Amino acid sequence: MLNLHNAEFIRSAVKQSDFPDDNLPQIVFAGKSNVGKSSTINKLLGRKNFARVGNQPGKTVHINFFEIDKKAYFVDLPGYGYAKVSKSERDRWGKLIDTYFSSGLITLGIQIVDMRHKPTKDDQTMARWFLSTEMPFIVIANKLDKLRRKSEREENIKVIRETLLLPDDVPVIAFSAEKGDGKEEVLEIIQKAAEMQEA
Ligand code: GDP
Repeated sequence: MLNLHNAEFIRSAVKQSDFPDDNLPQIVFAGKSNVGKSSTINKLLGRKNFARVGNQPGKTVHINFFEIDKKAYFVDLPGYGYAKVSKSERDRWGKLIDTYFSSGLITLGIQIVDMRHKPTKDDQTMARWFLSTEMPFIVIANKLDKLRRKSEREENIKVIRETLLLPDDVPVIAFSAEKGDGKEEVLEIIQKAAEMQEA
């Protein structure tokens, strides 16, 4: 079992040689700027200000690595889809992501989308990246607390599945980084993925 309270920032990577390559499982988080990626990581780790919340969007084209209990990494990919980003910045994002995905280091992919909205074109692209790795992949539908009606929640999950072209074996987990809904389910998947790789 991973002790999630034992988490430590390792480094910000901007190129391949910065990526840890020591066979520890790498649990990878991706999402549009402002979707609540930092909040989700903090919630899962039971921390308040570990991954920075409200990071200036678009300013950070690097991959943050956190070591969890010396047994796994949480990998925080740079957010995407922020409108005011220059073309050169976007190109840097694409190159870095391409380098990381080509490295074959991913153990489990976790994409965070906003449960209130239909996934964007960028979300679709991101999901394709993850699916192409053929590694375990889950989608977190965040901000559940902002949707009151059960019918709306169900309908939106369906739209997310359809828009991201998710195969049936990819779970979409309704989640609230604010309230903690879905946390146990996600943690169980993370623990399983980390143990599989250890074995
Ligand atoms: P990031 O850019 O993806 O890392 O997003 P942040 O974690 O910085 O969150 C962006 C904003 O959304 C912040 O104001 C958070 O407080 C808010 N937020 C994140 N998750 C949730 C959630 O589940 N529910 C609600 N109501 N707000 C959230």
